[in-house]
Amino acid sequence: MSKYKATIGLEIHAELKTNTKMFCDSKNDPNEREPNTHVCPICMSHPGTLPVINKKAVEHVCKVGVALGGKIADFTEFDRKNYFYPDIPKGYQISQYKFPLVSGGTLNNVEITRVHLEEDTARSTHKGDESLVDFNRAGIPLMELVTEPVIHSAEQASAFARELQLLLRTLGVSDANLEKGEMRIEANISISDTEEFGTKVEVKNLNSFRSVERAIAYELKRHEKVLEEGGEIVQQTRGWDEGKQETFGQRIKEGAAEYRYFPEPDLPKLQLSEIPELAEEVLKKSLPELPSEKRKRYEDLGMKPEDVTDLVASLERARFFDAVIEKLQAPEKIKRAVNYLTSDIAGYYNEHSDKVEFETLTPDAFADLIEMVCEDKISSRGAKDILRVLLEDGGEPEQVAEEKGLFQVQDAGALKEVVLEIISENEGVVEEYKNGKEASLQFLVGQGMKKTKGAANPGLLKEAILNEIG
Ligand code: ADP
Ligand code: MG
Repeated sequence: MSKYKATIGLEIHAELKTNTKMFCDSKNDPNEREPNTHVCPICMSHPGTLPVINKKAVEHVCKVGVALGGKIADFTEFDRKNYFYPDIPKGYQISQYKFPLVSGGTLNNVEITRVHLEEDTARSTHKGDESLVDFNRAGIPLMELVTEPVIHSAEQASAFARELQLLLRTLGVSDANLEKGEMRIEANISISDTEEFGTKVEVKNLNSFRSVERAIAYELKRHEKVLEEGGEIVQQTRGWDEGKQETFGQRIKEGAAEYRYFPEPDLPKLQLSEIPELAEEVLKKSLPELPSEKRKRYEDLGMKPEDVTDLVASLERARFFDAVIEKLQAPEKIKRAVNYLTSDIAGYYNEHSDKVEFETLTPDAFADLIEMVCEDKISSRGAKDILRVLLEDGGEPEQVAEEKGLFQVQDAGALKEVVLEIISENEGVVEEYKNGKEASLQFLVGQGMKKTKGAANPGLLKEAILNEIG
């Protein structure tokens, strides 16, 4: 950038996947379209109701904590965060303040401050002079992760958010779709040309990774302009206008003091070390292979970094690939499989976004296909054709090869006839080869491939030609 150093810290919320809500037994269904369906007096904030802690939600956050290498709290409690808004009629949100479930940890070389648990609020919509409130979302368990102010570019910020999304999906604790609001990102941004931090601005309504990048880039430029013109940055909350591609001032930020946090008197304090299934060793054992571990395993297979990144970014593709690895075993076969997976297969699914990935193409059929190319039973051109059929309609590669006549002619004797024909049709070229022109041999092989419609094995064809003219 410029003489200014950018500093960014992220606050990311994610709705957790549980059967029921955070403090009651109403269903947690983020896909419910009919408003106010999954509600009860507790999540509607009626006075006199009593919340009960959802253990699964606590377990999910602890799992995230262990995966981040953070510290799981021994003692933890919930607090009331007081504010007035129709999306939370009881006048406070149950959250965590002093004793978050998780402290510390790192992801993508970014230090994590804390991860805590709270309840989501109702969703309000405003139409004309009418405001509507839907309580389906109210009380859904919400995880909040806060990073230290150690991010220094827009790209690093969105890379971190992507990695967190992948981690949450890998752990199975959240679907973390940004466009559905299951994951929400807020970026705190400041710039400074001294050792001290500059005044920060918080940007909300970032509904895609692209808008995270663009909003941060926009803010960094705006800050620089204000400072260069001798102005001052006002500490405030800003929104991102997707249409105009710019941020706009929303409100002057409240400090923590205004929320009057105090411990929630209706919930028990938790001594996590006394809950056997939340013990750190138990949680560690329950973790699936983490994205960072998967990357390392793929790199150790000799895969290119960009292929590794692509594959690990999609849980479906990595799962498919692992089943293929299991079948193929041999590194050179796996390498071939990677080539088809990252070019032909990825390309096909990018073009056909309506198609469910790996519904028709099975790991077994794909592994068989790779075996067939590796054994020279089919050409790589033929493999591409077969793969296309498997992607479109499924089936077995042998059968497709048979039907399309794609098995290479393996038998040198059977090639002889073809070779004799080529020689008699290209006497001049044969002469040239005999006089030392190497390229002429390649031309003759090409003629043979044409005649057999690609069904000849080029190596054997070359051998057969040399046998006749050598
Ligand atoms: P607040 O009290 O305003 O909520 P916090 O200290 O809790 O501020 O930090 C909230 C988020 O802002 C964190 O992600 C933190 O890393 C980030 N942050 C704090 N100071 C700065 C700064 N000067 N520039 C950019 N981000 C910052
Ligand atoms: Mg804060």
